[in-house]
Formats: sequence, C-alpha cells, structure tokens
Amino acid sequence: MATVDLTSIAKSFGPTKVLGGVDLSIADGEFLTLVGPSGCGKSTLIRIIAGLEAQDSGGVAIGGASVDHLRAHERRVAMVFQSYALYPHMTVGANIGLPLTMSRMTLRQRLPLLRLLSRQRREILRGIEADVGAVAAQLQLEHLLDRRPAQLSGGQRQRVALGRAMVRSPDVFLMDEPLSNLDAKLRVHMRTELAELHKRLGATFIYVTHDQIEAMTMSDRVAMMDAGDVLQLGTPSELYERPASIKVAQFIGSPA
Ligand code: ADP
Ligand code: MG
Repeated sequence: MATVDLTSIAKSFGPTKVLGGVDLSIADGEFLTLVGPSGCGKSTLIRIIAGLEAQDSGGVAIGGASVDHLRAHERRVAMVFQSYALYPHMTVGANIGLPLTMSRMTLRQRLPLLRLLSRQRREILRGIEADVGAVAAQLQLEHLLDRRPAQLSGGQRQRVALGRAMVRSPDVFLMDEPLSNLDAKLRVHMRTELAELHKRLGATFIYVTHDQIEAMTMSDRVAMMDAGDVLQLGTPSELYERPASIKVAQFIGSPA
C-alpha cells in the first residue's frame, strides 16, 4: 500500500517561509498533481517526500509508516527530474541500471580491478541487465541501450529518466515538471504516455507542474498550491466547476 500522508509540513529557507504547514493524503495508486505558480513551493514539497530535503516540522508517511528517519535511497520512491539528471559518460543501459548497480553491488564489485575475477559479479550484472532490458522494452528503448544521452532526442532522454525510476519498481513515483523541456507537440504526446504508464504500473504518482492543462488532463486529483499552502484539493472537474477562490478560478481558467 503506497499511500502518502503529509502532516503539517512546514519549511523555511532562512527568513523565507516556503511551506506553511501542508496537510495532504494521497491514495494508493492515485495520480495526484501539485499545480501552482512558479515559486509556490511545489519542488520543495516533492523533494521533502523524496527525502532530498528535510522539513522543519511535520511528518511524511508512506504506506502508513513514517519515513522521516529514512534517507532518500531507503524510501520506496523514485524521482524523475525536469533536467533528467542523466550521466553523459554512461550508456543508456548503464543510466537506467544505475540504481540497481548501487543497491546490488558492493563498492569492491564495482571496481574495474575485480572485473575479471568474480563469478558472483558476473551473475549480478546479468540480473541487472535482464531488469534493465525489461524496463527498456516497456519504454521502447531496447535499440538505444548502447547510446549515450547526447545521441538521443529530448523525448528519448525523458524515457531514459523514466526508465531509471521504473527499474527499482518503486511504490511511489515523484515527478517534478518532467515534460517541461520537451517541445509542445511531444509534451502532449508524453502526457498520454505517462497516463498510460500510470495505469499499467498501478503505482502512486505525485506529479508537479505549473501547467494547468497538464494538471487537468492527467490527474485523478489536483492540489492547487499558492505561496506554500494548498488552496484547494479535488478532482479536475471539481476545481474547474467549483473553484474555492478567485485565485483558483483564475489559475485553472474556470469561467468567471
Ligand atoms: P516551485 O517548485 O513551486 O517553483 P520551489 O519549491 O522551487 O517552488 O521554491 C519555493 C521558494 O523557495 C522559492 O522562493 C525559492 O526561491 C525558495 N527556495 C527553494 N529552494 C531553496 C534553497 N535551497 N535555498 C533557498 N531558497 C530556496
Ligand atoms: Mg519547481
């Protein structure tokens, strides 16, 4: 069960209050989108869920258990970044498999000196290769596994970043504006792909965007944020038809 429960999450950077005490409960398997203007605290909130940033107060629970004591790699979450964060010197296959290399191989086994020596190492590598292959097949990346990121299109890079998140089979996917570097046409296409991927995986998706159309077309529910608070939480049609304030109406584009 990959529910995500946020309780009174507050965060300041120095004198700047960024999150004012956010309460939010996300259901198992839900596609929830955090939407709101630039600077309202979306990235900070999703980074706190990921364990990449510590809240000042409040708690994060995943699957009903607090994860506040767990570091990022110990949480059953995977994050997809806007910048993709791919390693340029590594192949597509190595980029996708990196989380598995880090978790399944000791530092010694990753050392070049030992490469030829260990049979155990070869077995682990075969397992990683099989898992990377399965993910690559789902994302139509099989024929690109030996390329480097620089030899890929924007959409292909985006898929590699998704593959690296999928390879760990996380319970929760956290995506921070993953489509914002793509051109408009590809962005529309990837919306459909992401929605299908969500259905196929059955995982919980928490998706960040400043694009209200993205939010309204892909999500089960939308949390509209402004200045570090959730102004309204509801289904896309609830926000559109019954905006709780003028601010929500204006951002969503509801008829006045
Ligand atoms: P969003 O993702 O909605 O655009 P962010 O969460 O990135 O918003 O940022 C919210 C606010 O927090 C902004 O005013 C931003 O400048 C500030 N902020 C974010 N990260 C840091 C940081 N590491 N140090 C100082 N201020 C930060
Ligand atoms: Mg952001």
